[in-house]
Amino acid sequence: MIIVGGGVVGTALLYLLSNYSKARVLLLEKYETNAKLNSNSKNNGQTLHFGDIETTYTLEKAKRTKAASEMLLVYTSKLPTAQRNTILSKTPQMVLAVGSEEVEFLRKKYDPKYRALFPGMRMINKKEIGRLEPNLLKGRDRAEALIAAYSAAGYGIDFGRLSDSFVKKAQGAKVSFNDGVISVKQTTDGYSLKTTKSSYCARFVVFSAGAQSLKFAKQLGYGLSLSVIPILGSFYYSRAVVKSKIYTVQGGSIPFLGAHADPDINSKDRTRFGPTITPYPFLEKSKPLTIIDHLNAVGMDLDYMRSITNIMRNKDLSSAFLRNLGYRIPLLGKPSFVKDQVQKIVPSLRNEDVKYDISSGGIRPQIIDKSKRSINVGESTLSGESIIFNITPSPGASSCLRIALDNANEIARSLDIKLDSTRIQEDFKAAAHA
Ligand SMILES: Cc1cc2nc3c(=O)[nH]c(=O)nc-3n(C[C@H](O)[C@H](O)[C@H](O)COP(=O)(O)OP(=O)(O)OC[C@H]3O[C@@H](n4cnc5c(N)ncnc54)[C@H](O)[C@@H]3O)c2cc1C
Repeated sequence: MIIVGGGVVGTALLYLLSNYSKARVLLLEKYETNAKLNSNSKNNGQTLHFGDIETTYTLEKAKRTKAASEMLLVYTSKLPTAQRNTILSKTPQMVLAVGSEEVEFLRKKYDPKYRALFPGMRMINKKEIGRLEPNLLKGRDRAEALIAAYSAAGYGIDFGRLSDSFVKKAQGAKVSFNDGVISVKQTTDGYSLKTTKSSYCARFVVFSAGAQSLKFAKQLGYGLSLSVIPILGSFYYSRAVVKSKIYTVQGGSIPFLGAHADPDINSKDRTRFGPTITPYPFLEKSKPLTIIDHLNAVGMDLDYMRSITNIMRNKDLSSAFLRNLGYRIPLLGKPSFVKDQVQKIVPSLRNEDVKYDISSGGIRPQIIDKSKRSINVGESTLSGESIIFNITPSPGASSCLRIALDNANEIARSLDIKLDSTRIQEDFKAAAHA
């Protein structure tokens, strides 16, 4: 079988299939190495999401996210300590509520059911916030209402290095880099793929290629009722001003997490701020030609136009998109980002203290369901005849092993091969996360 895309999801599947089944697997990646795009630590929020700091999640979604991330904790707990430390970094985390409206919202959100799911999470007041993170209070209006939900059991994570470890542990599997898939066709006993290097046949194919997965799905007549809005997430940075991951309350009906402040997993001296949520025409940052892939994945028709119109009727979302587009305006954009997003968290930081990280930025392939004319929040997996298409916006990386396991079960059923579920259950026995 063939996996297309060497991000953290494709490589997690490579790892599972090659360790727990006898499937003969080949992974095709268009770049010279794995995890160059969204799974690269420069391009995502570096957070292992459990569902506790995400104020946009329902309790059900939080439970699913927690279970998926616990699989990753179990996986990394079995790596040699030195290697584990290059992937995971234990980092406290909090959701900061600023102003009486957010404070009220956060108090309601963390009801007894939430607290039962996350026993390590606790509400902290201004005084304790100041003790844990003094820079959150410095320069702030003393009268401003402020509380936070805090947990010491958070993690910064390098999904790129995690993906490297999956590839290394994929016994007997083959990986072909610089081998981009151009087209896919169904044959009598599977699929044939034409690539930039060669052509291949497989009995089963999994596309884990971000928004490109939807483009290929459409080539084969799947996912016709789906479309995509690429959302650019850029990051800014300052000197190190926080020790914890500081998330904010996402207001209104915006389906994305708000910008956060995080100790940079790649540099102890830096705090990152972001990501932005900017609609973007390309599927890869600064790759104008990927506008063609974008158009192929969109499936431009009347339903798409109606969906976009309907999505833009959500005033919270349309004004967030407009504000974020404004952040891209030369000279004016950065001061607005600093005022809106950075100073909400660290009030004393000035425009000159913050820099735009030009080398960073990922694209969330946000799926639109044209039949419902709305955004589909979370990851999407389309299944066809001996083929799967994974499209994983944020926080898909945290769920990579769960997505891979679902894929592996479907592949085993379809190809009638044995997936060693007993050993998987044994190996991934949940590590209780607080
Ligand atoms: C700004 C931002 C912040 C985020 N923050 C977080 C976070 O804090 N925590 C979290 O859990 N998740 C986060 N996410 C989401 C997470 O990054 C993604 O869900 C995850 O990286 C997706 O992995 P993937 O393997 O599906 O895709 P990618 O990592 O995008 O990998 C797709 C791969 O497919 C390859 N490919 C594409 N087309 C072809 C082709 N034709 N042929 C061969 N190969 C091809 C690409 O080169 C790439 O290597 C964030 C995402 C963004 C954009």
